[in-house]
Amino acid sequence: MQYIQDFTSLPAGTISWPEGQVERCPMCGRTGIEQIISEHGARVFVHAQSSEILSDGMLVEPQECCTVTEVPVLVP
Ligand SMILES: [Zn+2]
Repeated sequence: MQYIQDFTSLPAGTISWPEGQVERCPMCGRTGIEQIISEHGARVFVHAQSSEILSDGMLVEPQECCTVTEVPVLVP
């Protein structure tokens, strides 16, 4: 069974378990869940994801997300 979770329908500040807090995406202005995808601090904002219950666990796949491309501030 697969279902789609749409974070853009949730207001900023909502806590969605287990993903975290819903915040406004700096790239498109819609709401989503911020996720750190690498140890270098690369971030994405997930706006919608699908979840599927499998016999050995749960498969979660982002359906729609923005990659946050702000340039990190480097201290001289
Ligand atoms: Zn976005």
